[in-house]
Formats: sequence, C-alpha cells, structure tokens
Amino acid sequence: MGQVIKCIGMLTSGGDAPGMNAAIRAVTRAAIFNGIRVKAIYRGYRGLITGEIKEFQTENVSNIIQQGGTILKSARCMEFKTPEGRQTAYENLVKEEIDALVVIGGDGTFTGARLFSQEFNIPIVGLPGTIDNDLYGTDSTIGYDTALNTIIDAVDKIRDTASSHERLFFIEVMGRDAGFLALNSALASGAEAAIIPERETKVDQLEELISNGFRKSKNSSIVIVSESNITGGANGLAERMRNEHPEYDVRVSILGHIQRGGSPTAYDRIIASRMGVAAIDALMDGLRNIMIGIVNNEIVHVPLSKAIKDDKPVNENLIGVLQILSI
Ligand code: ADP
Repeated sequence: MGQVIKCIGMLTSGGDAPGMNAAIRAVTRAAIFNGIRVKAIYRGYRGLITGEIKEFQTENVSNIIQQGGTILKSARCMEFKTPEGRQTAYENLVKEEIDALVVIGGDGTFTGARLFSQEFNIPIVGLPGTIDNDLYGTDSTIGYDTALNTIIDAVDKIRDTASSHERLFFIEVMGRDAGFLALNSALASGAEAAIIPERETKVDQLEELISNGFRKSKNSSIVIVSESNITGGANGLAERMRNEHPEYDVRVSILGHIQRGGSPTAYDRIIASRMGVAAIDALMDGLRNIMIGIVNNEIVHVPLSKAIKDDKPVNENLIGVLQILSI
C-alpha cells in the first residue's frame, strides 16, 4: 500500500486527441468523489515548470464531455527533457502539495512521466490519449475512434468526386508509423487497399496492388496511405504511379489536422470516462507508473515501460479481409 494521496495534478501533453476533455472530467470528478483535491496543470509539462496550475472543482469540468481538443491545452516541452527542467517541475509539485500525477498523452508523455517518477518518487498514472492507437496494452486509445470516423466521413466525400472523374485517389491519414488508422478506415470506407508502414518493410504494397488486378472492375479507386517515411506517404506513392503507370489518373488528398478535431464519439467518451475513474482507483490502491488500458472491455493496468517499449501489432487478418472485399 502506497502513501495516502490527498491531492493529484492532472495534465494533457503531446498530440491532442478528441476525448481528452472527457478524461479530464472523469479524473476530476472521480478524485473529488473520493475526497482527493485536483489541480489542473496547463500546457502539459510546460505548466508544471512555469507553475501554471489551478485547483479544479467539479464545475470546472461541466459541459466539456462533448468538446474536442483539451481545455488544459497541450504543448511540446523541451525543457522537461533536461534534469534542470524536471527539478523545477518537482519543486512546483511540492509547492502545490501535489502527491501524484495523472498524465493524458502518448508515447512521449509516458517517457517523460516514467523518468520523472523514477527521479523523484512521484506516483504517476497515464491515460492513453492519442488518435494513432499506437500504445501497447490497450485495445483502443482515447481519440482513435473519433479520428477513424472523421476519416471515413472525408473518404466518403472524396469517393463521390473520384467516381465522377474515374480517378485513383491516394488519401493520406495520420498514424505516426502505425497503420491502425489507415487499415481500419480502409475497411470502414470500402477502400481498395491500405498501404501501411508495418507491411511495407515486408512487401512492396503498391506493386502487390497492381499485380492483384488493381482497379479491374471499377471506375474509381481509393487507397488509404499511412503518413510515414516508410510508405513514402500519398505524394510519394502518387509520384511512383505517375512514373511507373502513367495510364492512371492519380490524385492525392492529405487529410491532415482535420483528423485531430471534432466532438468525440460515444465510444471515446465512454472509454475516457472509464479510464479516468480507473486512474483514481489505481492511485488509491497504491499503484504507480502504470497506464490504464481497456482490453476485451475490461480495465487493465500496464507498466508504463511496457506501454512505451512494446510494439502494438496490427491485426494482419484485416489485410486479408480488405483484399477479399475489394475484388
Ligand atoms: P506524445 O505524448 O503525443 O507522444 P511527444 O512525443 O511530443 O507527444 O511528448 C510530449 C512531451 O513529453 C514532450 O514535449 C516532452 O515534454 C515530454 N517528453 C517526451 N520525451 C521525453 C523524454 N525522453 N524525457 C523527458 N520528457 C519527455
């Protein structure tokens, strides 16, 4: 059993994701419900260093569950990567009487959290907040489902014009070297194929697509591409097509930051709410340096080291499903 926690600090860091506000709301309300004070830290680790910290009451998180982005703001903070920066952050924690931290973010956020916790013996619980779904130990991250729905909405619209002009579209989606968004949005939007970094190291996916009779029976085609140096991105693939197969009328659409915004889906609101409550439960149970995940609809606790280091595999069966359905 760890120390009794009287006050927690909470921050969002790294790339923002829809559903972060639902997580902030859940952490705040669950803490207050359990008699724990909550201090909101603004702009990720930067606010910890600059002391931009404010105590939250339950009404501070009213009316935010449906909002995209994060009311706490997010920032990339280089100073937190230095021992001096983390020392200042620690001094602010002590000054604010914060006993433990809940950090909502991705890989980088957890890397910083782990280091900070080891150096200063601070209990930290992480909530996976990233549209990329690239964290090991949870079926889904907060924001991923919303991003997926935003992508399919955009792809449906592009399909209309692709079909009118009988064009081939490469549509680039985010994913930071992970193919979850590309593969699942391809399935959900009825795209011809997904080109993802995980497979590109094994096969030339563009060549495979062409030799499989790409666009045999259709007047337009949509291929979803993960943004990544490994795949070459949508522009890289379009360039190759123009050089190697000039008979195709190729166009590119890069969806970009639209994928990070919008009101979170029901699914993201639900997992964010469950994970937020689980974070407070875990801290009260004396757990530390873990990420809250949901696997098979059950809350799980994953060591931060494992969430960061282990690669989350894409489900290769989905590639087969996509190939069958795109004949
Ligand atoms: P994400 O959490 O979405 O992966 P980043 O990689 O930008 O986003 O990381 C968010 C923040 O976490 C960084 O701006 C930095 O403050 C902190 N961070 C990342 N890596 C480290 C590290 N190696 N040491 C200390 N802090 C780090």
